[in-house]
Parts: sequence; structure tokens; C-alpha cells
Amino acid sequence: MNRIVFCPECRQDVKFSVREKADSAELKGKAYEFISKNAYCDVCGSEVYVPEIEDENLKTLYDVYRQKQGIISLEDIRAIPEKYNIGKRPLSLLLGWGEQTFSRYYDGDMPTKQYSEKLKQVLADPAYYLSLLENGKDNLKSDKAYEKSKAATESLLNISVSQQSKMECVVKYLLSQCRDITPLSLQKALYYVQGFNYVFFGSFLFEENCEAWVHGPVYRDIYRRYSSYCYDPIDSIEDPDVSSMPAEEKVLLDSVVKHICCYSGKTLESFTHLETPWISTRGNLSVEASTDRVIPKQVIGEYFSSVKDKYRMLTPANIKDYAQDMFSKL
Ligand SMILES: [Zn+2]
Repeated sequence: MNRIVFCPECRQDVKFSVREKADSAELKGKAYEFISKNAYCDVCGSEVYVPEIEDENLKTLYDVYRQKQGIISLEDIRAIPEKYNIGKRPLSLLLGWGEQTFSRYYDGDMPTKQYSEKLKQVLADPAYYLSLLENGKDNLKSDKAYEKSKAATESLLNISVSQQSKMECVVKYLLSQCRDITPLSLQKALYYVQGFNYVFFGSFLFEENCEAWVHGPVYRDIYRRYSSYCYDPIDSIEDPDVSSMPAEEKVLLDSVVKHICCYSGKTLESFTHLETPWISTRGNLSVEASTDRVIPKQVIGEYFSSVKDKYRMLTPANIKDYAQDMFSKL
């Protein structure tokens, strides 16, 4: 960085020092607080203008804005072309945008909430990206770009299929065993399966993380898959193949079906709103604030361990004691 700047007070080039201070600035009509850097003349002490520092402050302010507004971060935007091995212009076309639009975001322009949501979805979900790629391949200028990106995406999908198979298994089993399970109650059942499997058998059943959404913990991919059902029950599955499911796992799932899935999605949502993992992850977010904050597995593990101790649970059948007590608190 330039170590000498012109000081208007001293009317000469001077050295300067940089100090941080709590600052606030207005962006799109709202004030945001951030830590700014400021340069001061070493001779007279008055504030001097250093372009690099102003750029940095602007970036800090925009980072705070993105975070508060739930707008995708610049790092995440830049991860997308790399993840799917696709150029910025072809990607922009696949998204149905102007050829330069993605490049502008890549360079730091702020996407609108709607565009941001689309970018987040693309980053999180290779299957969704693949559908964009297939639908938009005729708009791409080279077949080679299509082939390269398709290969990258398919290898990601193969990895995620093997990682997801456990959760898939659990979802199918729950859908086969429960009548009237809605997207909301399915989400809560998955969360309790994770928590109780951990305390009874020492491990989480699946890799995926849930997020602390307004209506309780949510596994995003599962949400997306069944969101069209809204508040209706999801179609049940006839005979899922559970031959590879260990007996203890089945015992646990059956207990969750019997003692958790007997409550409505709304009731289960109320349970989770009384529980530490959801509460602590949301922190001071307002009741209606959307977020993609992940509920750390460690927090889920600790919480359900304390539940097991409190209710002196010995087997998964004791999930009943917890559920009944929670219900009595509503
Ligand atoms: Zn000066």
C-alpha cells in the first residue's frame, strides 16, 4: 500500500497511521455498524484520504450488509464456477440472465435477494445445477463447455448420492411407516432421529446438517424435494427395502414413528422451539427472520445427551417420556 499521502492540512506528502474504530454507514436506507479503518497524518494528526483503505472499508460494509440481509457471500459466488467447472459467461446464460450479469456479481456487485437465492441454490444443489445445464445447453456457445461441466457435476452427484443414501433410507422408512406425515413433521422426525440415534448408539445416522429455520430445524434438500406438498401429507411409500438396515436402527426409527410422528408438524415445531439447539443457533434473530445457519451436530449431541440424562432414558422406547413431557409444556 501507498505509505505516503497528501495531507491537506500540512499541504505536503506525509506518512500516516491506520487505526480502527466502530463506525456506521447507511446502505439502501438502513444503517449498518461495522469496524472501519481510518488513516491519520503522522505530522498533524488529522484524517487523510487513502483510496485503498476506503475500498477496504466499503468491502467490510458490504460484507456486513450481505450477512444481515442473507445475501450470498462473495466467496460463495466465486466458488460456483469452480465447483461446476463452467465459465462465468456460460453460467450466466444457464441462469437465464444476461451474459455479463454473473461476472458483475463475481466482481463484487450485490445481487438482489431473488438472484442471491438462486445462486445459493445452485451452489448447494448439484442436481439443480445439472437441470439448468441440460435445459440451457443449446444456449451455450461450445459443446466442450457443456461436456466439461456435465462431467464435473456428475462426479459431484455420485459422491453426494453415496453420502445421502443413509438419509434417503431413513426418509423412505418414515414415509412408509407414518400416515399423514407432512413436510413439516418429516423434518422434525429426521431431527429427532439424529439426536436420539446419537445418544443411544453414539453416532449420527446421516451426514447432512439441518438449519435453524423459522419453523424449526430443516434439512434443506429434503425440504426442497417435498415443498410442493405444503401442509398436505406426503404420498406414502409402499415397501421400502430395509433389508440392509441394522436392527437397532429400526428399533430407534420405530420409536420415533410411534412417539414423535404421532404429533402434528405444528406441535413438533413447538417442541423444537423450546429446545436449545434451535434457540442457540438462531441467537438474537427475530422470530420471522430467515436464515441458513446450521445447527451444529455437536450442539444437537450435547442437548440430546442432557435429555437422556434428565429422563433417565435406557432404550429408544423412552423417547415416549420426553415427547409426553414436551407436549405437557405447550
Ligand atoms: Zn497533516
